[in-house]
Amino acid sequence: MKAIHIIGGGLAGSEAAWQIAARGVPVVLHEMRPVRTTAAHKTDGLAELVCSNSFRSDDQQHNAVGLLHEEMRRLGSLIMRAADANQVPAGGALAVDRDGFSAAITAAIDAHPLIAVQREEIAGLPPDDWDSVVVATGPLTSPALAQAIGALTGEDALAFFDAIAPIVHRDSIDMSVAWFQSRYDKTGPGGSGVDYVNCPLTREQYGAFVDALLAGEKVAFHEWEATPYFDGCLPIEVMAERGRETLRHGPMKPFGLTNPHPGTSKAYAVVQLRQDNRLGTLFNMVGFQTKLKHGEQTRIFCSIPGLEKAEFARLGGLHRNTFLNAPKLLDATLRLKAMPRLRFAGQITGCEGYVESAAVGLLAGRFAAAERLGEALAPPPATTAHGALLNHITGGHVETIDAGPRSYQPMNVNFGLFPPATRVLAVGDDGKKLRGPAKALAKKRALTRRALDDLGQWLTGAPRLAAE
Ligand SMILES: Cc1cc2nc3c(=O)[nH]c(=O)nc-3n(C[C@H](O)[C@H](O)[C@H](O)COP(=O)(O)OP(=O)(O)OC[C@H]3O[C@@H](n4cnc5c(N)ncnc54)[C@H](O)[C@@H]3O)c2cc1C
Repeated sequence: MKAIHIIGGGLAGSEAAWQIAARGVPVVLHEMRPVRTTAAHKTDGLAELVCSNSFRSDDQQHNAVGLLHEEMRRLGSLIMRAADANQVPAGGALAVDRDGFSAAITAAIDAHPLIAVQREEIAGLPPDDWDSVVVATGPLTSPALAQAIGALTGEDALAFFDAIAPIVHRDSIDMSVAWFQSRYDKTGPGGSGVDYVNCPLTREQYGAFVDALLAGEKVAFHEWEATPYFDGCLPIEVMAERGRETLRHGPMKPFGLTNPHPGTSKAYAVVQLRQDNRLGTLFNMVGFQTKLKHGEQTRIFCSIPGLEKAEFARLGGLHRNTFLNAPKLLDATLRLKAMPRLRFAGQITGCEGYVESAAVGLLAGRFAAAERLGEALAPPPATTAHGALLNHITGGHVETIDAGPRSYQPMNVNFGLFPPATRVLAVGDDGKKLRGPAKALAKKRALTRRALDDLGQWLTGAPRLAAE
């Protein structure tokens, strides 16, 4: 049988190789280290963790990434097997001994009879006779390959930096203060005239907000990142440094908006949030990309009227990160529409984080193996963590009336990506109606229970791995 080629032996590439080989399909894994390295990797081990050693929460009942861990375990993940075997104490989080973890992955891949590892850079599009390729070269894809992918997909479709504005769970916004309205009630293609959530600030509140931005602690860029500011994408604190009124004439302009709440006067400045996913559960803060530290972001953004109790699905950032405009470019099984022999996996698809990258590698591996074996494999249901993540990458993200090419930005898995649960327990064991935190926990349990049930059903219908 002809081998499937994988480019990149990071979190995604290693998991994809394992899943493909587990279906009895041969794999050639091309990893450029140590021949050539990236600015962040330090070893030649497969699946090296470049920064923190944490896989975040391992709570499968109440946390979306904990649920993703559990789903991966049930799907025979090598990354999770090595993580569990190399766990170090970290409270409710799953943290690992990074060297032991990478060594376990490298040993398992090297020992697999169906996987051949070649240490070389693939410095352009793969040769034509590689008819099935998984590209899993990560946020620091080597420049030669990135250039070739950029030429194939078009300049705007491959970004080299992310510019992340915070995303808020819609149901945590106080709508007795905020209101829905598009600027000048514009409808535009696909708009309704009431597409934005607007949060009003008085002159005093705006002044205090600018002071907080200027004083807030920021994260420095790595030396190798340089300073990637480009037009239309300045961090808000940099805009604030340019003049106290700059934000008010930029992302916080109050014009064309009327606060409908009785007894309110014209806002001096307005923060707008725009729908971010088709489900309408997540809204991003328009133009609020920032290098403020995460703690500072929650403190300062929760001072905005209407966002006092905001729950953030993602906080802002700006990093070196190579990623595709995946919702436009990839099909439902992660193949590049313009060249379907190329399938993408890991952070280059616009997911964010070690676990998410490995999970997308797992799916890419299963899709590629099924295709090679002539089997049909439906994507996992959108109610599972894998399905929710895949849906975000390949179609769940929305481009609203004035969204630009950069509107798709990387994101960790979170409950906002899941369709809301319909069957949530309304009363506790004591027969009393659930409220506040107890109700929120019940909602999460309903989502995670449904996810694992649906994953089980999907697995029953899906082709089996040799080990299952
Ligand atoms: C500086 C930095 C810090 C981060 N910190 C965290 C963190 O603390 N927690 C977290 O969850 N996530 C973090 N991330 C995100 C994290 O990198 C990714 O989530 C994860 O490593 C991505 O997995 P991946 O498999 O897509 O890419 P990687 O793990 O980066 O693997 C890609 C592999 O492809 C190889 N490669 C690249 N180009 C080529 C080529 N042309 N030919 C052959 N091989 C190639 C690389 O050498 C690398 O081994 C960080 C990212 C960066 C850049």
